[in-house]
Amino acid sequence: MTDPTYDVLVLGAGPGGYAAAIRAGQLGLNTVVVESAQLGGTCLNVGCIPSKALIHAAATYAAVVRSAGDVDSMGIHVANPSIDLAATVTWKDQVVRRLSGGIGGLVAKAGATTVAGWGRLLDGKTVEVASLDGGAPRTLRARNIILATGSRPVELPTVPFGERVATSTEALAWRTLPEHLVVVGGGYIGLELGTAFCKLGSAVTVIEAADRLLPSFDASLVPPVERRMRQLGCTILTRTKVTGQTDTGVRTESADASSGEVAADRILVAVGRAPLVEGWGLDDLALDRDGAFVRIDDRCRTSMTGVFAVGDLTGDPMLAHRAFAQGRLAAEVIAGQPRRWENVCVPEVAFTDPEVVCVGMTPVQARSAGIDIVEASFPYTASGRASTTADNSGFVHVMGRRNDHVVLGVQGTGAHMSELSVVFGLALEMGARLEDIARTIVAHPTRAEAFQEAALAALGTPVHI
Ligand code: FAD
Ligand code: NAD
Repeated sequence: MTDPTYDVLVLGAGPGGYAAAIRAGQLGLNTVVVESAQLGGTCLNVGCIPSKALIHAAATYAAVVRSAGDVDSMGIHVANPSIDLAATVTWKDQVVRRLSGGIGGLVAKAGATTVAGWGRLLDGKTVEVASLDGGAPRTLRARNIILATGSRPVELPTVPFGERVATSTEALAWRTLPEHLVVVGGGYIGLELGTAFCKLGSAVTVIEAADRLLPSFDASLVPPVERRMRQLGCTILTRTKVTGQTDTGVRTESADASSGEVAADRILVAVGRAPLVEGWGLDDLALDRDGAFVRIDDRCRTSMTGVFAVGDLTGDPMLAHRAFAQGRLAAEVIAGQPRRWENVCVPEVAFTDPEVVCVGMTPVQARSAGIDIVEASFPYTASGRASTTADNSGFVHVMGRRNDHVVLGVQGTGAHMSELSVVFGLALEMGARLEDIARTIVAHPTRAEAFQEAALAALGTPVHI
């Protein structure tokens, strides 16, 4: 039996690819999605979901340990807590398996077909799929192709991946705890996983080349995270690079040219990710590129008619929610809808302790664009709700344009800040003004009140500060 010519072929079933396939199927397009691994991509299998599961388990354990140590004064006592990391990883794997299995059902429910195997473009309409079990390859044809092959971790020549040197994928599967863990890179992965392993009991050293942690976030957001990591016992070396491995750890060199050595039985390298552009025929297509990334326009169209690209393959920020949005957009454009990328912001959230959020412009970006702004912060030390918990660190900062008070950006750090990022994003997408935020009745006591309080303060009418 020969395969039909599909309306849409999606290469890769991560957040970009499976969202595209589901939307295309919903729109009545005859759709096939080709995936060589588990459905769900990096995010679901070895990224967002397993990392958040590990972070949650580590935070829960750390809270129990703190109670056992009787250092908090809430009157909770727990005797001799311990953690079985192998059991934690088994639990995490179950969470991932359940969600990944669900994606297959969602794709099928939308009427799209899934084909397992490694796809390789023969031309802009044809993909050869090598089966995973050594069977004969299949040739699939489609009027439109959506490229969604994602990304892979960047390797450092001084510490190549191997037995002791792991990517986040291996680190998320460790069934025993490293005694001394060196984390190279103080960005998203380095801090999320570095903090988690610190809470689980490893002695963690984070080695960051830039002059501060989380260099892609506004500098004001970093001190609470760094403070907490140091409290937990993490060692943080900034302006430092790893120059090689020794039998017992790594050699380092700092910006002032002084060298040192850090003990490590395991090393996690998290210095960024690069688009997955090799091994599937991209070079033969000669699509326009932005550096290593595939260049797209505001409809996710590449330079070749009928070939679209979404997700990490297309550039920064390499985030799952951007990939989801692009995937849906590409399918709707193929279906003939008058859609284009019009979003004001892609929220950035680091699931550190405390969590860090940046939505829209930062004050530094606004000023350098010559925009006159009004701004204010509300600290969680002044929040009734935060005071009823063990954690009142952090703040929410809001910024509006001076002449019309339209909200341009919100940053914040604090417990559960990731959930608040949704409200911040909604405000920006709807063109809210500071007055809209200030006059909305916000339930009390909640951590979300900090957003309203910051807006009130920006208008010069603060209540609780
Ligand atoms: P991917 O998810 O990488 O999916 C690409 C898929 O294509 C893969 O399944 C791959 O097997 C398949 N594929 C590639 N080539 C072929 C081929 N030729 N044939 C068949 N199949 C192919 N983002 C967030 O927004 N929030 C987070 O909390 C977050 N946490 C993260 C934590 C970690 C540890 C990591 C590594 C990443 C995290 N990310 C997070 C980033 C997020 O995972 C990515 O932005 C997202 O997965 C990108 O989706 P994608 O569809 O572009 O690519
Ligand atoms: P990253 O870009 O967030 O951080 C990499 C860090 O490594 C940077 O701080 C950089 O200055 C540093 N660095 C680079 N070269 C170095 C060197 N030689 N020595 C020491 N430090 C060096 O990258 P990541 O943490 O690997 O994460 C990859 C991507 O995955 C992120 O950019 C993000 O898009 C995504 N991600 C998102 C989340 C989230 O949304 N919560 C979580 C994890 C990953």
